[in-house]
Amino acid sequence: MSTKIYNAQYAVAVSGTRIVGVGSRSELTNRFPDFEIEDFGEALILPGLVNTHTHLELTAFRGYLENEESDFFAWLRKLTLARLEKLTPDDLRVSATWGGCEAVRAGITCVGDASDSAMTSMLALQDVGLRGVVFQESFGPDPRLVQENFDKLTAKVADLRGVETDLVRVGVSPHAPYTVCGPQLELIARFARDERLPLMMHAAESRAEDLFIREGRGIFAEGLSKRAIEWNAPRISTIQYLRQLGVLETQPLLAHCIRVDDVDIETLRETRSKVAHCPKSNAKLGHGRAPFAKFLNSGLAVGFGSDSVASNNTCDILEEARFAVLLARAGEGDTRITASEALATATRGGARCMDLAGQVGELSEGAYADLAVLSLNGAHQIPNHDVAATAIFASSGRDVILTVVAGREVFRDGRVVGVDEERLRARMNEIREKLC
Ligand SMILES: [Zn+2]
Repeated sequence: MSTKIYNAQYAVAVSGTRIVGVGSRSELTNRFPDFEIEDFGEALILPGLVNTHTHLELTAFRGYLENEESDFFAWLRKLTLARLEKLTPDDLRVSATWGGCEAVRAGITCVGDASDSAMTSMLALQDVGLRGVVFQESFGPDPRLVQENFDKLTAKVADLRGVETDLVRVGVSPHAPYTVCGPQLELIARFARDERLPLMMHAAESRAEDLFIREGRGIFAEGLSKRAIEWNAPRISTIQYLRQLGVLETQPLLAHCIRVDDVDIETLRETRSKVAHCPKSNAKLGHGRAPFAKFLNSGLAVGFGSDSVASNNTCDILEEARFAVLLARAGEGDTRITASEALATATRGGARCMDLAGQVGELSEGAYADLAVLSLNGAHQIPNHDVAATAIFASSGRDVILTVVAGREVFRDGRVVGVDEERLRARMNEIREKLC
């Protein structure tokens, strides 16, 4: 079993997959005299960052949809068609693995990844050494096809169970309230409860979704009508609609939650639902601003999500955290959200969202050895008067120099360990040309 003490501003001792001590270098060398010591000098050891909402398979679409951003329907359609028609299964594997490399390079150790090809994404996570849940997506706005779509999902989940590991688990993701009809949402929710599967979905994201659910009109309603699919809008908020359908009984992880009022937030809290706050994606697509300060004050489990790099365009949770705080302050004038709270959201908050509280997202004895070493030596970080402020307001994932997942070093010395990044880089360029 490998044993090591990582030393920076303080030291963390790791044995096998777990943290066995946190303290000063001298304390830990006294307690563990046989452990190898690695000293990082001016650096900070952080709990591994948690990215609660990604689509790593879509990494090949970074910058591909810039001209469609003002029309969410066109954006979704171009993405869906290009993914289906232009990318091979191996392209998707390369895309997801490259996304995984980007994540661990930025100190991310755990992801909540929604994927239409979850098998590919699970294998990509395993290739890189990430921890996470891959949520198999399900689509189906037509109530006439509910059973067929549901059977497809359950067959996929049965296959995915076969490749689960201690690090990478399976979940289900009915895509969104406008792409999955009510009866299908009900069936998937019941399935998730019966099978104890985590459930993630997009919720309360765009104005178009709000119009669709509350008023039964707009681009999503028109799209269904063109396909002769009947839609009776529930005329309540997305959150109350999901509650009616039993989705909130699964304690889901809900991405975005922009269009939520105080009653919805209370509903989310009561049902122990969790929020993946994706401020950069929300802003880039012009969807609006989720009430981050209210989420924090309500005691809800909330973590940061990058969403896919098609709408971000980076997978960097430190950058996401900085943007979240600045946006909340700019919009609500809420200077009470501190750098420490943002750091806690990026780590412990993310762990709660992934049902891994106490296991990851913190540097404590007994927790998994998921950690990241952040260099504090950059010109942009000196002087360092306040370490949380330096981490959140002056640093980004590009300052990470080591990432460890369950005691295994997955990124060190500028390389993702065990991954042929040069081959992937060449393949990513081939895929870009194919998409042109
Ligand atoms: Zn998403």
